[in-house]
Amino acid sequence: MKIPNQDTVQFVRETRQDKDKKIVIVPHVNPDGDAIGSAMALYYFFSKQNTVTLITPSDFPDFLNWLPSSNQFINYKKHQKTSEELIASADFIIIVDHNAPDRSGDLEQGIARSEAKKLMIDHHPEPSYPTDFKISSIEVSSTAELVYNFISEIEKSSLDTLIASAIYVGIMTDTGNFMHNIHAQTFETVSQLMKYNIDREYIYNQVFNNYSLDRMRLLGYTLSDKMEILDHCGVAILSLNKQELETFKYQTGDTEGFVNMPLAIKGVHASVLVMERDNEIKLSFRSKGDIAINTLAKQYFNGGGHKNAAGGSEKKLDMEATVRFLKEVILKHSDIFINKAK
Ligand code: 5GP
Ligand code: MN
Repeated sequence: MKIPNQDTVQFVRETRQDKDKKIVIVPHVNPDGDAIGSAMALYYFFSKQNTVTLITPSDFPDFLNWLPSSNQFINYKKHQKTSEELIASADFIIIVDHNAPDRSGDLEQGIARSEAKKLMIDHHPEPSYPTDFKISSIEVSSTAELVYNFISEIEKSSLDTLIASAIYVGIMTDTGNFMHNIHAQTFETVSQLMKYNIDREYIYNQVFNNYSLDRMRLLGYTLSDKMEILDHCGVAILSLNKQELETFKYQTGDTEGFVNMPLAIKGVHASVLVMERDNEIKLSFRSKGDIAINTLAKQYFNGGGHKNAAGGSEKKLDMEATVRFLKEVILKHSDIFINKAK
């Protein structure tokens, strides 16, 4: 079990004792269930004693807005000045579920300038965030699992149903409902969480059975009209441009999970979702087994992530050119899909 080192524990305990200390929690840009679940668990934990703010670098995803207090969080996109002031005057900033400054989105510069002590809690490979304290391991399912260890170590008696539920959201979403990235310890953590009477069925329904009709139709459209399978190497490409997203009244989080769908097709070993955003094209990668898809995300799309789940972006090419370039990349590396596929 990865636990914080003594310096970290001591600093955090001292900070908690001082009610005047200002704490800011920052999940990564375009936050997912693990980023939000982890950040919220920390928010609930610290808010028992301290002044704490949770700032998301971009929109808070709708599929998590049922979590208590989620309406109190600050979206940098809507409150830039307040966010910048809070970060500048913070005593302690906790970087959650990311390990490189550019994943803090537009908050990157403000965080770099802030004189606050900084702690990173994250489970991605190759950490590069220059923080004072680090809790970093790739041997856990999720950042939420590290947050569980962290809170248990600092003050286990503070754990309650709310904190346990937020941690559970992180683990459940980052493992695709307990399918990937599971370690023996993951189930031990979940078994501990269950002692706090978390309502697993309610949480599952809020996250996975709570979609809008538009989102469901967007999924149908994407799979029927916008999925291309590269037969020679078993890679599926899904692509959605801005106009298509608008047609289906796209809301942040609506395409969550789309990229996993093609992996259910026999003979498909990897899948990529390409989406047009305001100033960039965003790519999501998924793969099965030994195919390390994060290497392509890193090498060609300025991104990274885990072996089987990674992401990146393209800032110069347009949508069509990005898809063409992606196909060239896949063709060039077709051996990794063919040889490593199980
Ligand atoms: P998703 O496809 O769900 O957005 O992201 C999958 C994984 O890739 C996550 O673990 C996420 O942290 C990582 N990831 C997504 N986008 C990026 C990116 O632009 N850069 C890096 N380094 N990692 C990313
Ligand atoms: Mn994560």
